[in-house]
Amino acid sequence: MNNTVCPSAEEKNKVLPGVLYLVATPIGNLADLSERAEKVMREVDFVACEDTRNSMKLMNLLGITKPVISYFEHNKAAKGPEIVSRLQSGQSCALVTDAGTPAISDPGEDLVRLCAESGVTVTSVPGCCAAITALILSGLPTGKFVFEGFLPSDKKGRQTRLNELSREERTLILYEAPHRLQDSLADMESILGAERPIALCRELTKRNEEIMRTTLKDAVAHYKLAEPRGEYVLILGGAKPKNEMFFAEMTIAQHVAFYEENGLSRMDAMKAAARDRGVGKSEIYKAIQSKQ
Ligand code: SAM
Repeated sequence: MNNTVCPSAEEKNKVLPGVLYLVATPIGNLADLSERAEKVMREVDFVACEDTRNSMKLMNLLGITKPVISYFEHNKAAKGPEIVSRLQSGQSCALVTDAGTPAISDPGEDLVRLCAESGVTVTSVPGCCAAITALILSGLPTGKFVFEGFLPSDKKGRQTRLNELSREERTLILYEAPHRLQDSLADMESILGAERPIALCRELTKRNEEIMRTTLKDAVAHYKLAEPRGEYVLILGGAKPKNEMFFAEMTIAQHVAFYEENGLSRMDAMKAAARDRGVGKSEIYKAIQSKQ
């Protein structure tokens, strides 16, 4: 059990000693910085930044001259304990990441865990998060969703994860780098299906914000001609419930036979059936063997 006491309601706007503030910053439009985010950055003892150059630009713009410390993926093991020890000595710290909400697809989550383990109070100054901004703009169901962050960057890892996600019925949120977008879309089309709805949310809150609501097939076709530019969040519609799928009434053998009749080899037909059903190939193989 690890309970740290959060500052009480009337103290919420005071910067308190020994507290880590997770401060959300804009994802593109500076006007999205909240009044409280600015106040906290101005009043803490020091600011921990994922990219000091990036955050210094914001701080210079606001005329904030606090000491900064860098805290990012490749120095977090050394810097995390240093930040915690400064917090334990009574200093206050604002954690800001490159853009958006700290601890979402960035090393902030490790610092929060370290603070929690060390009994240091963590509180948040909420604001922009690219994932949620994209989700609400997507036009896809928002009632139940799954945040996946970045898919693995290697082809095999990406395909494995997509296969694991192929039967997920909730809306999926993914971050993607522009240089990987075309390959990822191609894998998504072949694993999740050509007709799966997708919203490609690009350059959110920036001048060139664009939401493309389409299907995987059309997204692949579009990006065969267009070069991906800027930052993307991908929102994918969830899989149809199994009982609404075309194979709902088929046995496994009938399901495999269906694909073979449509031109797939036995091996590819088994793979396709396994993917549809969200099970391993061996399960399909066993079911077919037991029928022979
Ligand atoms: N912590 C951040 C947040 O709250 O969204 C996310 C950090 S993650 C390292 C960066 C990824 O977020 C980018 O690669 C992109 O997928 C997404 N992203 C950030 N800003 C964006 C924007 N303005 N438009 C679209 N996607 C954005």
